[in-house]
Order: sequence, then C-alpha cells, then structure tokens
Amino acid sequence: MARELICVCCPMGCRISADNSGGSWNFSGYTCKRGLEYASQEVAHPSRVLTASIPLSNRSVPVSVKSASPLPKELLISAMRQILSLKVEAPVSIGQVLLKDVCGTGISLIATSDVL
Ligand code: SF4
Repeated sequence: MARELICVCCPMGCRISADNSGGSWNFSGYTCKRGLEYASQEVAHPSRVLTASIPLSNRSVPVSVKSASPLPKELLISAMRQILSLKVEAPVSIGQVLLKDVCGTGISLIATSDVL
C-alpha cells in the first residue's frame, strides 16, 4: 500500500510518500528528521494537538485552549464534545489545566490565553 502525506510540522508542507509494499514502511520526500518522525507516526497511529475556543460562563469572550500533547485522531470528535460541555469561569491564566484527562487519555487540556 502506498500513501501520500503532507507534513504538517512546519510551513514547508513537504509531500511525503509512504510505501509498505516491501513489508515495512519506507518514506521519501521528507527533508528533515521531524518529517520522517511525523510520517512514521501518521501511518502507525495518527494524532493531533487539539485546539479550540470555549465559552466562559461569566465573560462574553471565550478562552483559547489546546491539548497538552497530541490526541489520537479517532478521539478528536469525542474530545471536542467533552471540551464543549465544560463549565469554565474566568479568571483563566495561560497554562492553567482546565481538564486533566481528555477522553481517558491522561492528556490535559490547557488554556492558551489569559482571561481576567
Ligand atoms: S519534512 Fe521537515 S521541512 Fe518538510 S514540512 Fe516536515 S518539518 Fe517541515
């Protein structure tokens, strides 16, 4: 099986070809080690850092958030549902943990902005 990937690790967006017709994955088209690591992860178990904005119950502005590390791609929709069900109040500080265990992964959801 062959796959074409676009590396999302930097704005270069290198096109990476992945082929496992020989029994193990071979990659071409990446131009740095990060690209090779991304492609290897993507064919084995794709994951993404989740970013979102969530409303605050006592402010008219939302707070931006992200997962502290990449979440399995198949959990992103469930994670968004869980995040949107949170009841969060200001003040919120950058780096504050708003949810300790997104979808049972052990990965935290953290604020990426201050809302006083
Ligand atoms: S392979 Fe390297 S240079 Fe190319 S997009 Fe990925 S991180 Fe950027």
